[in-house]
Amino acid sequence: MSAPQSANDAPDRPDATAWHALGPDDTLARLKSSEDGLTPEDAAQRLVDSGPNVIPRKRREGVLALLVHQIHNPLIYVLLGSAVLAMVLGKAVDGAVVLAVVVLNTVVGFVQELRASQAIEALSGMVPQNAVALRAGKKVSIAAAELVPGDVVLLEAGDRVPADVRLLSARNLRIEEAALTGESVPADKSLPALPEDTELGDRCDLAFGGTMVVSGAASAVVVETGSSTELGRISALLDETTELETPLTRAMSRVARTLTLAILGVSALIVGVALFRGYPLVDAVLSGISLAVAAIPEGLPAIITIALAIGVQRMARRRAIIRKLPAVETLGSTAVICSDKTGTLTRNEMTVRALWTPALDDEPLELTGVGYTPDGELQRAGASIDPSDDVTALLFAAALCNDARLERRDGEEPTLTGDPTEGALLVAAEKVGISVDALRDERGRIDAIPFASERQFMATLHGGAEGARILYLKGAPEIILARCSLDEPETSDVLSRVERMAEQGMRVLAFAEREVDGGRDTVDEADAEGGFTLLGLMGMIDPPRPEAVEAIAACRQAGITVKMITGDHISTARAIGEQLGLLATGEKALSGAELSRMADGALRQAALDTHVFARVAPEHKLRLVRALQASGRVVAMTGDGVNDAPALRQADIGVAMGITGTSVSKEAADVVLTDDNFASIRAAVEEGRRVYDNLVKSLAFVLPTNLGEALILLIAVLFFPVVGGSPLMPITAVQILWINLVATVALALPLAFEAMEKDVMTRPPRDADAPILSPFVLFRTALVAVLMAAGAIGLFLVDYHLALQAGEPAARAAREAQTLAVTTVVLFQIFYVFNCRSLHRSLRSVGLFSNPWVYAGALLLLLLQVGFVYLPFMHTLFGSAPLSFTAWLKSAAVAALILPIISAEKWWRSRRARPSGGETASPSERAPREPRHRMDRPVRV
Ligand code: ATP
Repeated sequence: MSAPQSANDAPDRPDATAWHALGPDDTLARLKSSEDGLTPEDAAQRLVDSGPNVIPRKRREGVLALLVHQIHNPLIYVLLGSAVLAMVLGKAVDGAVVLAVVVLNTVVGFVQELRASQAIEALSGMVPQNAVALRAGKKVSIAAAELVPGDVVLLEAGDRVPADVRLLSARNLRIEEAALTGESVPADKSLPALPEDTELGDRCDLAFGGTMVVSGAASAVVVETGSSTELGRISALLDETTELETPLTRAMSRVARTLTLAILGVSALIVGVALFRGYPLVDAVLSGISLAVAAIPEGLPAIITIALAIGVQRMARRRAIIRKLPAVETLGSTAVICSDKTGTLTRNEMTVRALWTPALDDEPLELTGVGYTPDGELQRAGASIDPSDDVTALLFAAALCNDARLERRDGEEPTLTGDPTEGALLVAAEKVGISVDALRDERGRIDAIPFASERQFMATLHGGAEGARILYLKGAPEIILARCSLDEPETSDVLSRVERMAEQGMRVLAFAEREVDGGRDTVDEADAEGGFTLLGLMGMIDPPRPEAVEAIAACRQAGITVKMITGDHISTARAIGEQLGLLATGEKALSGAELSRMADGALRQAALDTHVFARVAPEHKLRLVRALQASGRVVAMTGDGVNDAPALRQADIGVAMGITGTSVSKEAADVVLTDDNFASIRAAVEEGRRVYDNLVKSLAFVLPTNLGEALILLIAVLFFPVVGGSPLMPITAVQILWINLVATVALALPLAFEAMEKDVMTRPPRDADAPILSPFVLFRTALVAVLMAAGAIGLFLVDYHLALQAGEPAARAAREAQTLAVTTVVLFQIFYVFNCRSLHRSLRSVGLFSNPWVYAGALLLLLLQVGFVYLPFMHTLFGSAPLSFTAWLKSAAVAALILPIISAEKWWRSRRARPSGGETASPSERAPREPRHRMDRPVRV
């Protein structure tokens, strides 16, 4: 039987191996590797030979789509229609200029959007993709791109398989292969070799690059990398087009569509009025076209895209990688941030501080300072380790039931690899004189149940004395005690000790052991259910990150509530919450169990009122997000585990951890933090608010010009005379295009670089439902438009009549006066852009020179405008004419009036706003509290 669908029959890989038909040992032999992996030198050489383990992306379709996106726009259709109409009516030059401008606009918009989309795409490469490999027997975390055939990798739940691999060992391994086979039910994996003609979906001894480990753990050897992997061969799947749309851009396109219809209506009306006033047909139609061209903000789409792209890049520099563009906007309206504790709010530098065993009746032993503890008794353990000593037995369990490793290099401090919680236990054991390496050599691990947040424990099976087997258990005290043979009073005595340690902010772990049948060499969960002897407790501290304390205070100022969500004990959580300034002393925290018992209504209130949630499981996170959203809050939620993905997707902003997070969580997230630090979320929120501010500024800058021009034309058609058979116009259609596309874009783009407003983090979050065209923006638009129209029309009329009086022919007088009107509008814009640098604050408080781009834009525009006025070819294209120096002065004087008028308006608004506290005050929910640090000295080996 032939299997043509088998990937190995592919003609482009004649020498491809049927890896699924080889057993583990044959595979290793074929790849000249071993169970310990490759040596670093060998791996480096192979990397040169095989190339990096990356799948190149194709993106040609994206480029085409981007181009179509530029043209497929109702506003462009109106312009194209106008151009054709103008040509048909015999105005060839006008038609050609409109066409040229459309082409120019499309090219500029295309190039800018392309750059923006490339920048955003480049970010996806910044989200770290790591793999855990064995190099010369040592576990190392390396970039997935550096994997080579022959590398041995370790896989666990939540990982994305980094390349095509042959399994060497597996435990309960299940993999979701939808990326490859479309099958969303996870596949069970096993080790035995398979017949050669086994189909791709049934090759359960292989795992394929790009698929997701849903549960279990495995070690495997890399067989194919990069474009030789199954996924690489169908890499068309990876041709994701970069999404450049956000709720805001969608809302803007809706506005644009309505606007276009309205403008077409008004234009038709204008044609009617013009005909009624005796305009020749051509001129009537041209005035309609002019109005359409005037009122349409042609440059706006490009301005918005660029402002968003700049925001994305800034956030990346501040260690928050945006995976989904809409997040840039949503971040600005975030009202609640739910954050994990360990590693995000705390340093994830665990240090064991206290030990307790049942034989030590009194208070726990303190482990402080470097070296031995102050307790005399324990020092004997350092001199001679006695396994029958209770403290030593506890530390043995801690060192054995443990996946962390201490690496020593000569002359250097030992370094820890693995979970910091477990690392702390090793350090504690070494501190009292136990050699962890020697102990592990002597009491090798036979099998294990790995730690999982849902289980809250781990278990390992070891050889004991005289062929016996010992099962060690370590985990959350409630869970461990429930499996120990203790009576009720004993259990509650231990629990109250746990409570006392936790109240000091310590994470407490309990340890227990049980003898099992000598012959056993595997364990499952049933073995860990009961019959254990309690060995004792260990308490460790993990100090808050100082920058998190500061960021939490900043968020509170900004009207953002921070909630801590942790898997830790409720008392530990409360103590850390107090240290972080999240909780008032004695304030209540809620546990996951309590959350489970609450009905949705009660939960909604509790979610708003509570700031610390403890012993929380992933499903509680999902309910919490939903409850907060039901109260109308925009919620950001962090998560790192496999099971956090639903909550991350549900949150308005899902935040994943770049260093410790699983691939599953990163892919579900909108934002990935490259440093896992809470302070970076705050930075992203700050940038999100800035982006939104700057977008509103661009709008407040662009829209008045359009309305102003429309007003100028409207007034002209209604009231200006028809001279010598043709109507007098202050500005022509092509001149309007010059203003809208050259002047406006040159000035509006620099606004996207405007620095943060001073109050950006002291005002409450923006209402996510508030329209971007707020009454304030509309008022400002109307005010500036009227001023602009009055200034331009006034100067036009004065200049025109003076020229006529001086005996100039009417046509020349009109050209000069039009040039003056255009120059006036442009100068208006140059002055007004300075007003727009802050919508509410005065220019002085913004800092006159804080955004040099505005000056660059203004200077560039001034040069272009000089060209418009004096260059002969500009005269031909735009019907402009040279201006005298006094004309420039008059124009500048009138345009400059905008500065004091808008400044007065700002002053008036700020005076009105102050007494009520409306716009600038920050109604923080509770008074800021002084954070209380309880930093402890780290303990070294
Ligand atoms: P946070 O939710 O604040 O980030 P976390 O994710 O570290 O904390 P989990 O890892 O879910 O919390 O841990 C929950 C509980 O499981 C801990 O309080 C501890 O009691 C126990 N625990 C944590 N790590 C281990 C481990 N390596 N072995 C055994 N038990 C552990």
